[in-house]
Amino acid sequence: MAIARQLDVQLIAHSQFTPPSGTGWEPQDGVSDAESLVEFAGRACYESFDRPNPRTAENDAYLRHLMEVGHHGPLEHAHATMYVRGISRAAANELMRHRHFSFSQLSQRFVPTESAEVVVPQAIAEDEELKRLLLNAADEARFVYDELLDALEQRLADEPNALLRRKQARQAARAILPNATESRVVVSGNLRTWRHFIAVRATEHADLEIRTLAVRCLRVLSDVAPTLFADFQIQQLADGSEMAISSLVSEM
Ligand SMILES: Cc1cc2nc3c(=O)[nH]c(=O)nc-3n(C[C@H](O)[C@H](O)[C@H](O)COP(=O)(O)OP(=O)(O)OC[C@H]3O[C@@H](n4cnc5c(N)ncnc54)[C@H](O)[C@@H]3O)c2cc1C
Repeated sequence: MAIARQLDVQLIAHSQFTPPSGTGWEPQDGVSDAESLVEFAGRACYESFDRPNPRTAENDAYLRHLMEVGHHGPLEHAHATMYVRGISRAAANELMRHRHFSFSQLSQRFVPTESAEVVVPQAIAEDEELKRLLLNAADEARFVYDELLDALEQRLADEPNALLRRKQARQAARAILPNATESRVVVSGNLRTWRHFIAVRATEHADLEIRTLAVRCLRVLSDVAPTLFADFQIQQLADGSEMAISSLVSEM
């Protein structure tokens, strides 16, 4: 099996905000839609549209205050969607443990896996011998996959619907495909969920692949909502990989 593309994370959608009329409140100039929406939702709780507290009159101070006091609900109104490619099935499985996200994942039952590629973990990729070992094992798994696919298709020969026959054969044969097989996922979530995902998956305790994904998402989201992700600091670990940690004590 060939080596998959590098991890690719692209922002494909995020919240647009249309301020309502009749409140007397206008978004602050230069503030992103996501952050104006979160401010509006927070102020709607108290109808504090006239910005009565000078300490939280500015959008960034207001959002920081929401996070500091744990008033996280307003963050749930702003959303972002990423398209992630070059991620292993193993890391995709970790990503999907986060229950407040919505997912659409490449189907191994419908999409031909004959051209599937593998994501090689960094610790293996930097050692030629280990890389060869992994790629050989992946090739063997691939060989067995093809054998199973052919045998299953023959056993299902009575099924007149060719598409169904192929799907049933693939869904059984994929059992032999490695955890390293590349996957592709559309993932959507509100900004509270993205913050939580980054808080737990960008730490040094997380697996390197999902940590790399979390740090990449943090960089993307820092453009969508700079203040809401400003408490996360990206740091480099001794092995050259990156992690991120929030300066806020209470997260979520
Ligand atoms: C370093 C690390 C190691 C891990 N190792 C393992 C492992 O060995 N085995 C394993 O199975 N998993 C493991 N996990 C996964 C972990 O246990 C969580 O399932 C995963 O990180 C999802 O995060 P979450 O639990 O915060 O839930 P999310 O789904 O991200 O939900 C966000 C928050 O919503 C709340 N919430 C959501 N659902 C519920 C609920 N049903 N009840 C109460 N509160 C809820 C919680 O406050 C939760 O923190 C590991 C995670 C990390 C970061």
